[in-house]
Amino acid sequence: MKKTILKEYAKLIVQVGANVQKGQDVVINAGLDQPEFIKMLVEEAYKAGARHVQVNWSYLPLKKLDVRYQSMETLSTVNDWEKAKWQHMVDRLPAMIHIISDDPDGLKGMNVAKFAKASQATRKVVKPYRDQMENKYQWTIAAVPGEAWAKKMFPSVSKRQAVEKLWEAILYTARVTDDSVGAWQEHNADLIDRCKRLTELGIQSLHITADNGTDFTVELIEDSHWCGGGDTTIGGVFFNPNMPTEECFISPMKGKAEGIVYATKPLSYQGQLIENFSIRFHEGKAVEVHAEKNEEALKAMIAMDEGAAYLGEVALVPQSSPISASGLLFYNTLFDENAACHLALGAGFADTINGYQEKSLDDCRALGINESMIHTDFMIGCDSMAIDAACRDGRVVPIFRQGNWAF
Ligand code: ZN
Repeated sequence: MKKTILKEYAKLIVQVGANVQKGQDVVINAGLDQPEFIKMLVEEAYKAGARHVQVNWSYLPLKKLDVRYQSMETLSTVNDWEKAKWQHMVDRLPAMIHIISDDPDGLKGMNVAKFAKASQATRKVVKPYRDQMENKYQWTIAAVPGEAWAKKMFPSVSKRQAVEKLWEAILYTARVTDDSVGAWQEHNADLIDRCKRLTELGIQSLHITADNGTDFTVELIEDSHWCGGGDTTIGGVFFNPNMPTEECFISPMKGKAEGIVYATKPLSYQGQLIENFSIRFHEGKAVEVHAEKNEEALKAMIAMDEGAAYLGEVALVPQSSPISASGLLFYNTLFDENAACHLALGAGFADTINGYQEKSLDDCRALGINESMIHTDFMIGCDSMAIDAACRDGRVVPIFRQGNWAF
């Protein structure tokens, strides 16, 4: 890929994604796949005024070795130096840039149950730090091609060609153009406008149906609003958590969902592909799951903790989005979630509550925001999807028809 275009992409991630502020620290989490690009990213961060840029390199095979050889106790321990690192982040609130490139099958063969149990333990220790940082710092997730990932998406061409094709797909869906910043401003404005209209409807519940059998009703929280096209920290810094992003989303009322949903895309969860699955909800809880492939992984996922079987997100994405239009399956949630309407199991977003800035996290949870260590999106959108909103004033308003916006 041309250096000038990659530079443009790096600039976009730093300025529009993370919106790095003068004097702010920056933490970049990245794999080993595109070191030259990460270098560009670091330079753009410094150019934007970053005080200190830290890159945390990771390599999936090492994670597998840790899970295999470490005792349960070691794997479940958060060391003092790691706690000090978290405390440092709480104190400095760095902008976090996550660059994903991992092989979707990279954790195949890993002992998922052992890893899940250890994660439960470590996340409990990390949670108080996370809670202190929530909504106070900017973060963004963007992608670069890894070889194994590219080969999975484009198996019939050479490694080099596959990487090039994946670059093209990433840059197209992330709206990288000669004027990327302008393109993002326009795109954000459209999403913000749609979210405003959805919020103004005062939706009590959404009824979602499709030809595949999906027939599902979910209630929304009265004092909440739709989000999309970026986010704002409590301190007032605007940023884009996901690049690309196509969704308008909200966190539903915990405990208020009924019916069945059929997934329309496989779910890549901890290195395993869960395929052709359905989830039945009763009183907001996933009470029955079926999957043609990797049902056990799905069951383990919803058993991660109490909130893992409840919903944290309802998101609307038209079938006409660039990712959907590309026709590609990315085997990665960042992209695939933006190809279709989706739900997420696990944690809700406290910042969808009106006036969340003046509320505590516990206040938001009391209003119906789900709490969990996981937040896993799965796709339910398709060409036949219809969504109707039952509004609090008694109106029923069409939101989606044939998989696209009805307004
Ligand atoms: Zn989403």
